[in-house]
Amino acid sequence: MSTRVRTFYQYANRLLAGERSRLTIKKEAPLRIALVYPNSYEVGMANLGFQSVYRLFNEHPLVMCERAFYDPSLEETVRSIESGQLVTQFDVIAFSVSFEMDFFNMLKFLQQAGLSLRAADRHVRDPLVIAGGVATFINPLPIAPFIDLFFLGEIESQMHTLIDGLLSWKSAAIDKNEVVASLSKAPGFYSSLVKDRDRVVIAHAGKQDNGEVLQYSPIVTSYSHFKDTFLIEVGRGCYRRCRFCAASHIYQPVRFFPLEVILSTIDKHIQGTRKIGLVGAALCDYPEIVQLGRDLVTGGYELGLSSYRFETISESFLDVLNTGGVKTITLAPEAGSFELRKRINKPIPDELIYDSIELIAKSNIKNLKLYYLVGLPGETAADIDAMINAVRKIKSIFYSGNKPGRELTISTNAFIPKPFTPFQWCGLADEAYLKENRRYIERQLKSIGMIRMTQRSVKSEVLQAMLSLGNHTIADVLETSVLTNDLNYLYDSNEGRSAIHQKAEDESLSWDFIDYPVGKKQLWKQYTASFSQSKKSRAPR
Ligand code: SF4
Repeated sequence: MSTRVRTFYQYANRLLAGERSRLTIKKEAPLRIALVYPNSYEVGMANLGFQSVYRLFNEHPLVMCERAFYDPSLEETVRSIESGQLVTQFDVIAFSVSFEMDFFNMLKFLQQAGLSLRAADRHVRDPLVIAGGVATFINPLPIAPFIDLFFLGEIESQMHTLIDGLLSWKSAAIDKNEVVASLSKAPGFYSSLVKDRDRVVIAHAGKQDNGEVLQYSPIVTSYSHFKDTFLIEVGRGCYRRCRFCAASHIYQPVRFFPLEVILSTIDKHIQGTRKIGLVGAALCDYPEIVQLGRDLVTGGYELGLSSYRFETISESFLDVLNTGGVKTITLAPEAGSFELRKRINKPIPDELIYDSIELIAKSNIKNLKLYYLVGLPGETAADIDAMINAVRKIKSIFYSGNKPGRELTISTNAFIPKPFTPFQWCGLADEAYLKENRRYIERQLKSIGMIRMTQRSVKSEVLQAMLSLGNHTIADVLETSVLTNDLNYLYDSNEGRSAIHQKAEDESLSWDFIDYPVGKKQLWKQYTASFSQSKKSRAPR
């Protein structure tokens, strides 16, 4: 055994030793799927979508599914962690992709596996390469030539169609190209190899607010980003429709799962931990969130919440969080001024922000994290200054109780327009604008003091925007970037630059061929409504 394979086994054994699960893998099942998260184990295992698909595959009596991750620190990474088999020995390689920046990792993974990057160049006997996850289903075109078959939408509704199709291919009733062509006719499936299909309908799991599609993590592990946490979904979608937010526009209808179903799912499936991570885009809009928290802490569980809203912060809610051992609250005002928050349809009044921080200051919460966006449509220098003034005030309120060990973190990231939102026509703010304003914010927050700042590099945000908004031409430059191991190729490309420009109403968008519940007309109406609220436009400092 080579050193690099031995190193892989040590890595896999260490990870497996940290896992608790009741899931069993049927080694002899006829359909063998390698489910790949194109990022580290720590990130992948914190992703409820990835964990859910792993469970759904393995619950099928005729499927065995093992996991692989892309870990650039290892020379050998293209093996499943469960059995150590090469992913090329599986029938299917299924990528679960939640973030556009992982497109690059996904192609590196295929390259390291020794497979041709382009689906059309792969052999009919190579594994079928499929991909799903929110980053792929809002705009698959930048990676379309590399994937045999995409699944666009909520997998629960079409899991049986997918597995039945794959099983008939495995039983040699049809070949790989035929299964791709046949599945591509069903809602939610798309392949660039199939040329005679103009439109694709996104797959929805339907109303199903009875908890039938509620997802939970089958594995709890100490090596996840959410250490030793049982993740459970309390609802899907969000009715608030912030104009920049893809989750609220693509997951429809909004579903909140019944309290008793959530509690019984926890009782039935939790394994080896007392820590619960509640997940949902509109988690704090869950109608019985305080009751749910109370029931869990009364049952002796520790709590973790994936998101918070200012509107939910109350003394009783903070009491529940305190008893549940929560030490960190993350809130997203997004913009410093009320005017700009109105424009993005997140109209949180200033008073509500400060009143909430006052309540938090009186509680035992140690860490407060606030997220702001820079480069929002219509943002001006006054909005940036409003953000700095707001942070100054928040800091003085948060530290006013003189409670030791407190930390305030301010995260400022570029606004990246997303498909299927009213802001899908927006361009990314100029790089120079983003850099200049981020430097300005950094200087100002440093002078305020006692603030931890986090921000991504502007370059990585530009790359993410290119991958998020690009069309099929991005695929060629992405391929060269992977082959040369140099993302500058994409960053400097005309294709990348043209993806992030401001679009006109009648301009065709690369995701126009996908039918989503919210039509383009409705989105345009929302887009123009945001601008009719104010005549301001982004202004240089
Ligand atoms: S409240 Fe959060 S999840 Fe809901 S639409 Fe706004 S940003 Fe999206």
